[in-house]
Amino acid sequence: MGCNRFQTDGMKFLDGEMTVEEKRVYEEHVGACDVCASELEDLGRIVKLTDELRLRPPDTEFWDSYWKSLYRRTERGGGFLLLLIGIAAVLAFAAYKAVTSPEFLTFKGLAIAAVILGLVVVFLSVVRERYHESKNDPYKEVEQ
Ligand SMILES: [Zn+2]
Repeated sequence: MGCNRFQTDGMKFLDGEMTVEEKRVYEEHVGACDVCASELEDLGRIVKLTDELRLRPPDTEFWDSYWKSLYRRTERGGGFLLLLIGIAAVLAFAAYKAVTSPEFLTFKGLAIAAVILGLVVVFLSVVRERYHESKNDPYKEVEQ
């Protein structure tokens, strides 16, 4: 028949969570009780196994998801970079056109130049903020 008295104590014992007195009583009991002796042996095997699992180097599944996540991040970062370059090119072209236009010093030309300048300022501020965020994102490395 099973022995209920010390059923949960094996784990406590192996985890080193027992007082000296508890330990003495438990060890004494295990010496006399076959049920607890074999239970302790089984637990010991499980504890050893989980310790080994914990110490095992990352397996292929881990690396698979690591590369996938790295690829996703690179893809997203690459897309964002292309977007930035495109917007910068369009803005630079528009600014160049506005400044070199014979109408530049007219009301219309200055209004357009002001709009372009405004877009450039907003663009730069967004880029700076985004860059700052990506540098300080605490979850960046955790993301999988
Ligand atoms: Zn027992």
